[in-house]
Amino acid sequence: MPDYTYLIVGGGMTADAAAHAVREVDPAGSIGIIGAERHPPYDRPPLTKALWKGEPEDKIWRKTAETGAVLHEGRRVMAIDSRAHSATDDRGATYRFKKLLLATGGTPRQLPLKTDQIIYFRTLDDYRRLRALAAHDVRFAVMGGGFIGSEIAAALRMQGRNVTMLVPEAGVGARVFPSDLAAFLVDYYRKKGVTMRMGEGMAGLEARAGSCVVRTTTGAEVTAEVVVAGLGILPSVELAEQAGLGVDNGIVVDELCRTSHLDIYAAGDVANFANPALGTRLRVEHEDNANTMGRVAGLNMGGRATPYHHLPFFYSDLFELGYEAVGDVDARLETVAEWKEPFREGVVYYLKAGRVRGVLLWNTWGQVDHARALIAEPGPFTAKDLKGRLPR
Ligand SMILES: Cc1cc2nc3c(=O)[nH]c(=O)nc-3n(C[C@H](O)[C@H](O)[C@H](O)COP(=O)(O)OP(=O)(O)OC[C@H]3O[C@@H](n4cnc5c(N)ncnc54)[C@H](O)[C@@H]3O)c2cc1C
Repeated sequence: MPDYTYLIVGGGMTADAAAHAVREVDPAGSIGIIGAERHPPYDRPPLTKALWKGEPEDKIWRKTAETGAVLHEGRRVMAIDSRAHSATDDRGATYRFKKLLLATGGTPRQLPLKTDQIIYFRTLDDYRRLRALAAHDVRFAVMGGGFIGSEIAAALRMQGRNVTMLVPEAGVGARVFPSDLAAFLVDYYRKKGVTMRMGEGMAGLEARAGSCVVRTTTGAEVTAEVVVAGLGILPSVELAEQAGLGVDNGIVVDELCRTSHLDIYAAGDVANFANPALGTRLRVEHEDNANTMGRVAGLNMGGRATPYHHLPFFYSDLFELGYEAVGDVDARLETVAEWKEPFREGVVYYLKAGRVRGVLLWNTWGQVDHARALIAEPGPFTAKDLKGRLPR
C-alpha cells in the first residue's frame, strides 16, 4: 500500500503548485499525486489561446517531476477514509497519507444528449479532439457567451471555421462586462465572422442525420456537426461530501486552506475561502487562484502557517482584445468606465455601497496590484473620485 507524507488528489495546476511548495518546506517527505487524466499536470489557459495561435503543445507541461512526487495518472479517487488517513482509487488501490490535499477542480455542466459530437471543453484531450475536428469544414455551434465559449468561438473562427454562438443573454460576457461593452463584443464577434444568436438559449437537443440539432428558446433550430458546450463548471465536491467535510459552493476551507478535518486541505477551483479585502467568501475558477492557493496549501501542509489572503486576478483574450480583472467583477454592480479609446482600452470600476469591489483592466496592463490596492481602500468613492485613478 503506497504510504505518502503528502497525498494530492487531482493532477491539475493546483496540485502542481502545491507539490512545489511542499518541497520548499519539506525536502524529504514523500508526495503522491493521483489524477484522473492520463497526463501529468499542465497549464489549461493555453488550450483556448496560445495553442490555437501556434504555440507548441510541449510548452504547457508543468515541471511536477522536479518535486520528486510520484504521479498516479489515469486513476480516480473514489473514497476517502479520514479517520484511517487513507484514500481508495477506481482500481481498488489504497493509499495512506499524513496530509491530504483535495485539488479536484470542477466538472463541466452537461447537456441532455450523449454523443461524442458534443465537446465539454476542459482538458488537453478535449483540445486535441476539437483541434482535429477544426481541420474539417464542418459547422461548429458554441453554447454560452462566458469565458470558455467566447474564447473557443474566437479560436475556431481564427482557423477560418463556420462558428455560431448561442448566447442566452443579450451580450458576450454579460455576467461580467457592463452592458455597453457586452453589446460591443457582439458586434465585434459578428465583424470577425461569427454568427451571433443572442438571447437564444438551448431548449432541446437531438441527433439528426449525423448532426446535432439545437432547438433554441425562440423555437428556431441550429444544426451543427460539433457542439462546444461552455456552460460553466460545478465544483468536484463528491469526495469531500463522502468524507463528511464541510461543503457549501465548494469545499469550505479556513485561511490556512484546511477543511473541517485538520489533516485535509483543499485549494483551487474546488475550494471556498474567505477573502478579507472583499469581506466575503469566494470560490474562484482561475489560474492565479490555482497557482497561489495551491502554493499556500502546500506550504501549510508542510508545516507553515501562511494565511491565504490573496485576491486573485484572471485574464482572457478575445481575438485581438485582452483583459485582466481583479475582485468582484459582476455586471449587476454599479459600474464606472473610463475609456482611453471606447471599448478598446480603458478601465471599468465595479462599486457597491461606495467601495470598489472589482476592476476590469481592458487592454490595460501592469495594473493588477494597483487595482488590488484600490479595492482594499475603504472609500467611500464616487464616479468622480475614480477619474484617473488607474492606470498609474
Ligand atoms: C480551457 C480553459 C482555459 C482557461 N483559461 C484561463 C485563463 O485564460 N485565465 C485564467 O485565469 N484561468 C483560466 N482557466 C481556469 C484555470 O485553468 C483553472 O482555474 C485551473 O485549471 C484550476 O486548477 P485546479 O487544479 O484547481 O482544477 P482543475 O484544472 O479542474 O484540475 C483538477 C484535476 O483533478 C482531477 N480530478 C478530479 N476529481 C478527481 C478524483 N476524484 N481523483 C483523481 N483526480 C481527480 C481532474 O480530472 C483534473 O485533472 C481556464 C480553464 C480552462 C478549462
